[in-house]
Amino acid sequence: MTTDALQHDGTTTHEGEPAVSAATAAAIDQVEAHAAHNYHPLPVVVEHAEGAWVTDVDGRRYLDCLAAYSSMNFGHGNPRLLAAAHAQLDRVTLTSRAFHSAALGPFVEALAELAGKDMVLPMNTGAEAVESAIKVARRWAYQVKGVEADRAEIIVMEGNFHGRTTTIVSFSDDPDATTGYGPFTPGFVRVPFGDAGALEAAIGPNTAAVLLEPIQGEAGINVPPPGYLRAVREITERERVLMIADEIQSGLGRTGATFQCDNEGVVPDVYLLGKALGGGVVPVSAVVANSDVLGVLTPGSHGSTFGGNPLAAAVGLEVVRMLQEGAMQARARELGARLQEGLGALIGHGVTAVRGAGLWAGIDIDPSYGTARDVCLRLLERGILAKDTHGQTVRLAPPIVIDEADLDMLVREFEAALAH
Ligand SMILES: *Cc1c(COP(=O)(O)O)cnc(C)c1O
Repeated sequence: MTTDALQHDGTTTHEGEPAVSAATAAAIDQVEAHAAHNYHPLPVVVEHAEGAWVTDVDGRRYLDCLAAYSSMNFGHGNPRLLAAAHAQLDRVTLTSRAFHSAALGPFVEALAELAGKDMVLPMNTGAEAVESAIKVARRWAYQVKGVEADRAEIIVMEGNFHGRTTTIVSFSDDPDATTGYGPFTPGFVRVPFGDAGALEAAIGPNTAAVLLEPIQGEAGINVPPPGYLRAVREITERERVLMIADEIQSGLGRTGATFQCDNEGVVPDVYLLGKALGGGVVPVSAVVANSDVLGVLTPGSHGSTFGGNPLAAAVGLEVVRMLQEGAMQARARELGARLQEGLGALIGHGVTAVRGAGLWAGIDIDPSYGTARDVCLRLLERGILAKDTHGQTVRLAPPIVIDEADLDMLVREFEAALAH
């Protein structure tokens, strides 16, 4: 992005974007000049944050209604998480898994218990958790199920988003994610999301696993029909296929439950966790399953230098403790109902559809009111941070610690931004 014009009041404009201060423009230009252009951020430069609010380099405050794609579920600067991090910083931050650390045991034990499983594979980013689960599912297929060598298949969903590695984008159907990145990893079969019959028909003797998001986040908060997750569970159990639930965005309180699968009374074989597991402090991800599945990993067959590091484990443990108390899930459920009701009233007034669960909403914008990015830019001017996805959808995922009054303000400002 280049600065198009410096106006006499010291504000600058970029083509098609609102005027910004000289300080904001300078910060943006520095990033644009030296950071790879793999994102198209809204023109706001955050300097600090607390709870649901962030402050930019000009001292303007914004309500953060994206929460780093649900990584900040427990709020910016959450005192419990910062205290856990500070205490661990003074003890030890990294040992590698060549040695044991005193911090890892309490974390993996607590996380396994939270998920009702007995084993955890700690990793760092969400994509690594997904990659790890693919490897585990393939090994499980060969060593436990008896699938012919190198023939294992994993069923994935149309519209999926599971991260950015070469193998993960190999089964994406989003051209933005795949163009120019081939050759792709084989071994994946894609079926329509929400169609249990199509899933059942795709299962064959070599099927190792079904990998799905219980609600598709990046695709626009796509909620499958009621009963779908239960049907997937029933089919995969009967066909002896692993059900892998990628709860990296849907999990850990966002939808009013510990896991979105809980909302359908479903227990998958494998949970994939990330984002909020690190409380927005450090990257922490995990594959959580029983030992009959994760037990296929043996020393040297998989690893990560930073996976399960003491700092990550200390923060992750405090996240798990918070979720064990249940207050976050209850708050997301209660405030979520309020949010969905408020947004639902906008249907027919610039909004064509609202989808969501808990404190998580995808709002489709009537194209005659502009694109979703246009709406996000108007929201930005009104002190609300939100993000568009796939052209016409605005995604909202405020921190669960948001005040009721702030949530009501969000709905009011959304309505005002449509009337623009
Ligand atoms: C964000 C996300 C990932 C990838 O996580 P990263 O930490 O960005 O690698 C995977 N799956 C889902 C459902 C996600 O939302």
